[in-house]
Amino acid sequence: MSGIKYKRIVLKVSGEALAGKEGFGITPPVIDRIAKQIKAVHELGVQVAVVCGGGNIWRGETGAELGMERAQADYMGMLATVMNALALQDSLEHMDVPTRVQTSIEMRQIAEPYIRRRAMRHLEKGRVVIFAGGTGNPYFSTDTTAALRAAEIGADVILMAKNNVDGVYSADPNKDPNAVKYDELTQLDIIAKGLKVMDATASSLSMDNDIPLVVFNMNKPDNIVRVIEGENIGTTIKA
Ligand code: UDP
Repeated sequence: MSGIKYKRIVLKVSGEALAGKEGFGITPPVIDRIAKQIKAVHELGVQVAVVCGGGNIWRGETGAELGMERAQADYMGMLATVMNALALQDSLEHMDVPTRVQTSIEMRQIAEPYIRRRAMRHLEKGRVVIFAGGTGNPYFSTDTTAALRAAEIGADVILMAKNNVDGVYSADPNKDPNAVKYDELTQLDIIAKGLKVMDATASSLSMDNDIPLVVFNMNKPDNIVRVIEGENIGTTIKA
């Protein structure tokens, strides 16, 4: 494990990262690209837990804006994350990577229920664990799920995989040509500068539990491996 900076990681894959160019739905070749990178990290001996988002299929906020009851719409969002998790599991299994999906809301016919000790055992045995269903509670996000699970399983870092940006900038780099990329920040910098990286609940959980974050672009092959090997290709956010 020489040159490996992080031994146990939580990789947050947003729904958007799974959608491809269309920005919605599930695009299998895009999922295969992500799975390939997960496989490369797994082969280094790193313990990998993945938290899938669901925004490529459904967001609770959108339902609420259209007049739905927020909690009901959020449960639909949690179900969306399960679809993504199953798609990622399928892709990883085609690449011979052993995986387990654990859901925060029981659906025993398709996945294990989330059991912390069992998740850790899977990781120790070299299985990639995919956490689906968010926290299992409405009004939360999958970023918060990533922070919560990382704290629970004692992960060394949360890797926030992006597909349209390679780190945290002073402004939106797709709109403002003067936007500057930060190599390193603290959670307090983020609050002080009013930057948007995670929602406030997720940020404070990461901060309170001393879990660093790396925001990076996963579109380029090898990027996860580079982050794992300690190369600062994105933005590192210290607790
Ligand atoms: N969600 C929820 N509780 C959770 C996690 C997710 O209610 O603990 C719902 C929420 O409606 C959210 C949707 O699931 O809009 C999809 O998750 P998220 O928006 O975090 O996905 P991402 O933006 O990463 O694709």
